[in-house]
Amino acid sequence: MAQKPLSILISGAGIAGSSLALMLARHPSFTLKPIVTLVERAPEPRTTGQAIDIRGQAVTVIQRLGLEKKIKEKHTSETGIAFVDAEGRTIAQVDATGNVNKQSGTSEFEILRGDLAALLIEEMEAAKKANNAEVSVVYGESVKSLEEQEDGVAVQFAQGKVKDAKFDVVVAADGYHSSTRAFIFNKEASESAIMPMGMYIAYYTIPRIPEDDDLWQWYTAPGGLAIHLRPHGNKKTMGVYLSITGPSKANIPELDEALAQGPDAQVALLRERFQHLDWQSKRFLDGLDTTNDLYMQSVSMVVTPQWTTNRCAMIGDAAFAMMGFGTSFAMIGAYTLAGELSKITSNSTADVSAALKSHEQVLRPLVAKQQKPPPFFPQTFNPQTQLGLTALRTAIRVVIGLRIPQLAQWFMAGDDKNGWKLPEYGWQQEQAIEASKDKV
Ligand SMILES: Cc1cc2nc3c(=O)[nH]c(=O)nc-3n(C[C@H](O)[C@H](O)[C@H](O)COP(=O)(O)OP(=O)(O)OC[C@H]3O[C@@H](n4cnc5c(N)ncnc54)[C@H](O)[C@@H]3O)c2cc1C
Repeated sequence: MAQKPLSILISGAGIAGSSLALMLARHPSFTLKPIVTLVERAPEPRTTGQAIDIRGQAVTVIQRLGLEKKIKEKHTSETGIAFVDAEGRTIAQVDATGNVNKQSGTSEFEILRGDLAALLIEEMEAAKKANNAEVSVVYGESVKSLEEQEDGVAVQFAQGKVKDAKFDVVVAADGYHSSTRAFIFNKEASESAIMPMGMYIAYYTIPRIPEDDDLWQWYTAPGGLAIHLRPHGNKKTMGVYLSITGPSKANIPELDEALAQGPDAQVALLRERFQHLDWQSKRFLDGLDTTNDLYMQSVSMVVTPQWTTNRCAMIGDAAFAMMGFGTSFAMIGAYTLAGELSKITSNSTADVSAALKSHEQVLRPLVAKQQKPPPFFPQTFNPQTQLGLTALRTAIRVVIGLRIPQLAQWFMAGDDKNGWKLPEYGWQQEQAIEASKDKV
C-alpha cells in the first residue's frame, strides 16, 4: 500500500518559513512525501527590509543548499564599520575580514532582507519544478484556530483561502509576535516569551548621494540615540537605522504606543527624538517623508522554554529571536527541522513527536548559549549621557586600536562558541551529485 504523505502547514513566509519550505522541497530523501502549505498573512511577498547577515553555522547551511554564490552576488557591498562623530569624522574602523571563519561586524554574507526573502521563494519555486515537490504558498491567509488531536492538528483558517483541514505537522514561523505561538502554547505563555531589551529600531531606505561610501557608518549620541547608514549594493539607495535605547531593558511606553499606532506616529516620534542631532540627521529625517519601506520594531529576545509539542513546532523569531542572529538562527532552525522531519517513517503521533523533539534537542544548546548576551548589552553601547559616550568612544578606540579582533568575533560569530556543529541530513550528497553532473 502506498504510504500517506506528510502534510505540513507553515505559518509565515518570512526568512524562517520560506527557508523551511525550500528545504522541504529540496530534500532528496523523505520517506513520506511532504505536502506543504505555507500561509502568509500579508497579501503579497514581503520583500523589503534592510541588511541582514548570515553567520557561523548558517554559512554551512547556505553552502549545503548551494545558495552561497547567489547570496554573495547580492552582497550589499559593505566593507566594514566606521564609528563616526557628530561631524561624520571616523573615530575608529573595523573592516570585514573576508574570512567566513572569523567574521567581524560586517559578515561576508550581508544581504538585504528583501533580496534574501525573494531568493528563498524563487529557489523554492525552482525546487518544486525540479523535484515535483508539493508546496502551495497562500498570501493573505492566517491561522484562526488550531487544536492538536491524536491523528493530526485541526486547523481553521481566517480568510477561507485554504480549506480548514487536519495537518500532520504545524510550524509557527510568523515572527516575534507570532499569533500561532499563542495558539500552540496559550496567550500568556506566548506573551511572556518576549523579553524586552529597552531598544527600538526604525529601518528605512533613502536615496544615495555621491558622498556616501560602502562603510556602515555608525553615529552614537547621548540619550541612547544612534544613527546607522549602510550601503545597499547599488548606486541609488542606502539603508538608515534610527535606534533609541532606554537606560534599562524595560519597555518604553511612549515607543510602544507609537508602534501600536502605526507609521505616522512612529515618524512623528523619530522626528522629535532625532531633530537636534548633528551629522546628517536632517537628511535622514527628510528621508522619512519619501521612504516607502519604514519598518520599526522593538528589539526583544524571544525565549521559550519549549519549541515543540507532539505535532507543532516554532522556528525563527517566533521561537528564539536574538538581535544580530535572527536570520542565521531562522535558517539553521529550518534546516534542523526539515532534516529531522525527513527521517519520519509514519504519520503517527509517536513518529512526528520524536522528530520534533529531536530537532529541539539538536538546536537547543546552540540557541541557549547565544541567548545569554552580556548584561550590559545594549545599554552600554547606547549611553544616555555625554560622559557615557566619551567612555564608549575611548573603549572602541582601544579595542580597535589594539586590534583585539577576538572580542568582536566572540560577540558576533556567536554560534560556534560551544563547538556546536550542524548535523548532516543529506543535502551535501545532493550538492555533490549536482556538482558531478556539472562536470560531465
Ligand atoms: C517586512 C520586514 C522587514 C524586516 N526588516 C528587517 C531589517 O531591516 N533588519 C532586521 O534585522 N530584521 C528585519 N526584519 C526581521 C527579520 O527578518 C527577522 O528577525 C529574521 O530574519 C528572522 O526571520 P523570521 O522568519 O523568524 O521572521 P520574519 O522575517 O519577521 O517573518 C515572519 C513572517 O510571518 C508573517 N506573519 C506574521 N504574523 C502572521 C500570521 N498570523 N499568519 C501568517 N503569517 C504571519 C509576517 O508577515 C512575516 O512575513 C524584518 C521583518 C519583516 C517582516
